[in-house]
Amino acid sequence: MKLAELGEFGFIARIRAAAPPGPGLRLGIGDDCAVSEVTAGELLLTTTDMLLEDVHFCRDWTSPRLLGRKCVAVNVSDIAAMGGTVRHLYLGLGIPADMAVAELDELLAGVLEAAADYGADLAGGDTCASSGPLVLSLTAEGTIADGDVVGRGGACPGDAVYVSGSLGDSALALRELRAGRRPSAFLASRHHDPTARAALGQRLAREHLATAMIDVSDGLLADLGHLLRASTCGARIDGAALPLSADFAAALAVEPGLFPLALSGGEDYELLFTVPPAAIASLARVAETETIPLSRIGTVVAGAQGVIVTDRNGGVVASPPSGHDHFRRGV
Ligand SMILES: [Mg+2]
Repeated sequence: MKLAELGEFGFIARIRAAAPPGPGLRLGIGDDCAVSEVTAGELLLTTTDMLLEDVHFCRDWTSPRLLGRKCVAVNVSDIAAMGGTVRHLYLGLGIPADMAVAELDELLAGVLEAAADYGADLAGGDTCASSGPLVLSLTAEGTIADGDVVGRGGACPGDAVYVSGSLGDSALALRELRAGRRPSAFLASRHHDPTARAALGQRLAREHLATAMIDVSDGLLADLGHLLRASTCGARIDGAALPLSADFAAALAVEPGLFPLALSGGEDYELLFTVPPAAIASLARVAETETIPLSRIGTVVAGAQGVIVTDRNGGVVASPPSGHDHFRRGV
């Protein structure tokens, strides 16, 4: 079926029928606004992330379902990076004329599936025709107990720098796709179907273990740079301590030039956070119970000199490559 046969309101009715309301949602899709409950002693977290065809994704390389899932995960990752719990999602869609209703159903199924994974509901949104690319803009609302928010600005000299999971997998998958090769199933899933570290972020915040936190979306060095600027500190990062997946390490063994992808490749959606020395023992227990590897990759230092990275041989990388910036190209 073509969208023209269904019409905008037919399409919205279809979304409404498929989107069950979650806890705290009084009114979801179908009125002028969504109506949700707020709880005393909690703060509201709100974030928006846009996925634009041919900027963030190619429809040839992924599926509508995975695109829907990724759209949710990248937003939940931002809520997790503050330590919050996602509650409600609002989906804006710019739909190109060539998209069939079956593809949109699949995209919506991916959004709802991922929303359920993280305990969120789809509470509203907007749809319109796009004269060009497919556009997905998702806004996520989350909540957190007042006093538990972890921002970017709390890192102190002497704190350890930690990152969850592994780095560079998504960027390596993208490199393979751009070269016309098929990435391994593991790398492809890290790129097309990332997992937001929701439970980890909540736990670090609730137990007050992290002084500052950010999710790795633009690349480790770029995101660490954001955190350090907000904290007016610098950091020393041990390149040899960066956590690499088996697939990344195997590719690196063949092509050592891939290492910068672990430093600057984007879209890992891991959590990067700083931990005071006294909290390190508690962190080991978190890593164990959350079954997510947490790697110490460096130390926060005084002064705003940025990041010093030592390479795998212990030498200083003079000018580490920067991460992704939408408005700067080739720098
Ligand atoms: Mg972020």
